[in-house]
Amino acid sequence: MDSFASSSRMPVLFVGHGSPMNVIEDSPFRRAWQALGPQFGKRWPRPQLILCISAHWITQGWWLTGMEQPQTIHDFGGFPQALFEQQYPAPGAPAWAAQTAQQLRQPHNQAPVGVDVTEWGLDHGAWGVLKPMFPAADIPVVQLSMDYHRPPAEHWAMGQQLRSLREQGVLIVASGNTVHNLRALNRTAADDQTYDWAISFDQWVANQITTGQLANLVNFQDQGESARLSHPSYDHFLPLLYAAAAADADESVEFFNEGFQLASIAMRSVIWG
Ligand code: ZN
Repeated sequence: MDSFASSSRMPVLFVGHGSPMNVIEDSPFRRAWQALGPQFGKRWPRPQLILCISAHWITQGWWLTGMEQPQTIHDFGGFPQALFEQQYPAPGAPAWAAQTAQQLRQPHNQAPVGVDVTEWGLDHGAWGVLKPMFPAADIPVVQLSMDYHRPPAEHWAMGQQLRSLREQGVLIVASGNTVHNLRALNRTAADDQTYDWAISFDQWVANQITTGQLANLVNFQDQGESARLSHPSYDHFLPLLYAAAAADADESVEFFNEGFQLASIAMRSVIWG
């Protein structure tokens, strides 16, 4: 798979993934993912490859997975055995990863992106949403890591480099959450129950997107207290920067799964294009 046939432009997805249980439990969130997958091949072309940027793959420098068969990683604890038994056997795309890694430049030093063939695979931020969307697991999946210690503007710059992949049959799936504070979880909360700071930050994010001020998302920390409480660490916010940077401010945009899970996780998901 050295090159792809040109196809019409693929959309860009940001998916709020929430609890790992979403992959095995019925919910309005999972139903939306299950309904979205079949739209590829109808509303949009079927992807030739999925490039996933997950909140859960944090590295030094930026890396692409380059293995033939990425392993399904169960990177969580304290969940039922049924969740650990889940597999998502989508193939990798070693030749594509090697070629793309040479084309991408790490924003801090202009070096090519690394290719990982031993460490990673697909983490639950990736397979947890891809399995309900594309249950056949027959589309190759490559993950791109994030260097958490680099500033948000560099994540944006990496996302901008992904934009041209949309013309090449690549579906970009960024997986995180617009609000993610595990210390404020409320396990008995309903899907519409949350905190004022969470509503405030999630609404700010939505407003930047609907008004096409996508680059403003880089400055999320300027939102002060609502940003700090919504992202005590901001690994779940960063994937949004990749998706937004690969989108155009004036292309059509839709939200889905606008709701909260366990009170302090916003599930808002975005599709551009
Ligand atoms: Zn997560």
